Amino acid sequence: MAKRKYFKTESKKLLDLMVNSIYTHKDIFLRELISNASDAIDRRHYRSLTDDAVEAADEYAIVIHRDESARTLEIADNGIGLTEEELINNLGTIAESGSKAFLEKLEKQQDVELIGQFGVGFYSAFMVAQRVDILTRSPYSETGYRWTSTGEATYTIEEADKDDIGTRIILHLRPDDQDNEETYSDYLKEHTIRRLVKKYSDYVRYPIKTDVVKKEDDKETTVTETLNTMVPIWKKAKADIKDDDLNDFYKRQYHDFEDPLHTIHTNVEGMLTYTALVFIPKNPPQDFYTDQFEKGLQLYSKGVFIMDKNKDLIPDHFRFVKGLVDSADLSLNISREMLQHDRQLKKIAAHLEKKIKSELEKMLKRDREKYIEFYNAFGKNIKYGIYDNFGAKKDLLQELVMFKTDQSDTYITLAEYLERKKDDQKAIYYATGSSRAQILSQPQLDAVKEKGYEVLMFTDEIDEFMVQIMQSYQDTPFKSLKQSESDLLDDEKKDALKTKEKDHKKLLKAIKKALKDHVKDVKLSGRLKDAPVCLVSGEGLSLEMEKVLKNLPNQAGIKADRILEINPDHELFTALSRIHETNPAKIDDYANLLYRQALLIEGYDIDDPVDFSNRMVKLMLEASEK
Ligand code: ADP
Ligand code: MG
Repeated sequence: MAKRKYFKTESKKLLDLMVNSIYTHKDIFLRELISNASDAIDRRHYRSLTDDAVEAADEYAIVIHRDESARTLEIADNGIGLTEEELINNLGTIAESGSKAFLEKLEKQQDVELIGQFGVGFYSAFMVAQRVDILTRSPYSETGYRWTSTGEATYTIEEADKDDIGTRIILHLRPDDQDNEETYSDYLKEHTIRRLVKKYSDYVRYPIKTDVVKKEDDKETTVTETLNTMVPIWKKAKADIKDDDLNDFYKRQYHDFEDPLHTIHTNVEGMLTYTALVFIPKNPPQDFYTDQFEKGLQLYSKGVFIMDKNKDLIPDHFRFVKGLVDSADLSLNISREMLQHDRQLKKIAAHLEKKIKSELEKMLKRDREKYIEFYNAFGKNIKYGIYDNFGAKKDLLQELVMFKTDQSDTYITLAEYLERKKDDQKAIYYATGSSRAQILSQPQLDAVKEKGYEVLMFTDEIDEFMVQIMQSYQDTPFKSLKQSESDLLDDEKKDALKTKEKDHKKLLKAIKKALKDHVKDVKLSGRLKDAPVCLVSGEGLSLEMEKVLKNLPNQAGIKADRILEINPDHELFTALSRIHETNPAKIDDYANLLYRQALLIEGYDIDDPVDFSNRMVKLMLEASEK
């Protein structure tokens, strides 16, 4: 007795669209079903290497049967097959998120061609079939199953006889509709199938076979012919590969709907022999900065698929690349565990790391615009790469990072920074903030601006952590503008400051006392021009880093040292001195307001807004009484 089940909501919507399809590229259904068949064979082959329960087939093949009298087109494979559970999970509820994303894309673009990129390619069968039967047998089930659906709300599943492992997808083609020039019977013709396989599936690595009729001396014989050349795209001579072919391959194989930003196709021969086809995407996948994301490259040996995401082939700092490695040096009988210790694999990985780095450097030198596109998408990942493992990859990666500066709204590299730094400049200055505009408004910039020193804008959380690890670039140390100012001041200015600090010792002491719960020190500042105060941190942890660490579970208690710097040349300071002389009790309110103001300028939250407000109100009332 067949069990009747309902499609999940998102899948149902997609099916409606397929059943009532108005799309012109209906042909692509064949490509999708062949690609599923090829995937299924890949999986069976891989399992046969790693799981005793699965036997390899003597010869893998995808077979297309055309039956004009029954009006059926069948795509059969001897791949892994589907268990009952897999039929329900993989076909009844196919990647719901994929369905949704694909529907959204379709609404905007009407581009049904993209269906495979969203993990819902199977459904395209309903563009040409009024009913789809699947007869399948998995090595993990005792029996075969028949799955049937007309693409409406439901499908049925029942046990069925099938002796061999694999899947037959049987499409009951729709009736032709002459009015709309929809002639589905074309798909039963040899030349149509031949054309479509050549066009879309030529590189599939398993033979795609069909029976064809040959005429010789008026005698007709039926023979089985392989329609595809089976040369995978990466095995073709580079001169024979068009960019479009590579882009299409990338999009289909790695589920992206945009062309890659950059393609690296490399053939290495010698001690180590391998081909790599590696793509840098235009944009990070949605889960890129989550722990859901899995890096890795596909692994092939002589064109035979071994595994999908080999993590050991790609270091974390380049984990954004997608692609594959095909090496004849790898044994076909390798399990996952053996791969981890494979010396050849380690050598390939080391090679590839260098190759990717040099390609990026080339891009940086020759096509800055493209590199910036890359950097906007993945620059953060490169910075994490420098920070990781206590800076182990600093030398490899430091030429790849860029920053905007106070003088430049476009990115510059660290090398470019050093090239144009002032002769008397001893450090690489940086300032941290939420955006370039916010940093440009910070009072700490005044003194360096005067000197003409350029300042790197640190707007990513990782930036400061990265330079803490780097310490210096080409022997020039990094220096935060929000830390000690001493090397920005000449001796004359330093002396003048010291004298002023002595003159106002009592006042400074009073302010420090008023703020003892908030700041470690109160100092007079030599770097401020227009602003009355600014807030800086002592050596070590900065205020920005404190903000980042606060959100981490076991770092929450760590605090930066706060130092309040007051501008002695500002009117407000003169006013403070006066008040300190005439009405010292008032200093408490003034100091507290001053400190909160510094926090606000820096873009921090004030810790006690009610206290701030109360003091402010008090002061305003007093002023109005005068
Ligand atoms: P995708 O191939 O991107 O996963 P599809 O909609 O094309 O999305 O297929 C959905 C799922 O159905 C596949 O992931 C696979 O689990 C299963 N499937 C489809 N065709 C076959 C097949 N011929 N053999 C085994 N499983 C298949
Ligand atoms: Mg598919």
